[in-house]
Amino acid sequence: MGTIKIKDKIFAVSIPDAKIQQEVKRVAEEMNRDLKDKNPLFLSVLNGSFMFASDLMRNLTIPCEISFVKLASYQGTSSSGKMKELVGLSENVKGRTVVIVEDIVDTGFTMQHLLAKLMERSPKEIHIATLLLKPDKLQVDLDIKYVAMHIPNDFIVGYGLDYDGYGRNYRDIYTVVE
Ligand code: 5GP
Ligand code: MG
Repeated sequence: MGTIKIKDKIFAVSIPDAKIQQEVKRVAEEMNRDLKDKNPLFLSVLNGSFMFASDLMRNLTIPCEISFVKLASYQGTSSSGKMKELVGLSENVKGRTVVIVEDIVDTGFTMQHLLAKLMERSPKEIHIATLLLKPDKLQVDLDIKYVAMHIPNDFIVGYGLDYDGYGRNYRDIYTVVE
């Protein structure tokens, strides 16, 4: 027990379910305090953040909304192959307090791009909440207000995070075994 095999790789438990739940609860309690009178709109970034978003919401007791967005590869004749479009956002975010809910911030480029896309829609403010942060890998200047856990620079799966589409279903977080 404690290890799983996904495709060609072995993973071992690195953050157990109980620890994840404890830290998600802590973040939710901070939000319950900070965002009480702000009617926040949580934007969960699919696919990776669905479990985090779910557990976070179950610990929030303030008036709030949640919606789900995705960064999808741009279809068509765009030259900038790397840049992705924000899809799925039907809510009006103008003047709102928006909280981005992400699974993991690694280099930070994805988050930086998402922030820029959201800013175009004139929210009142944007806060970032991430389940995981790899501080050693961060390459851009981001103000990340809510971090459930800091992790080392290794590839992880579980609790929403995948390896080639698999492994999202596990309650614990697993780190790849070299
Ligand atoms: P960034 O743009 O911050 O470098 O990358 C963020 C994205 O890379 C995350 O949303 C996630 O999809 C992916 N990612 C980064 N590190 C990991 C990891 O350790 N495991 C998994 N499953 N995905 C990761
Ligand atoms: Mg993600």
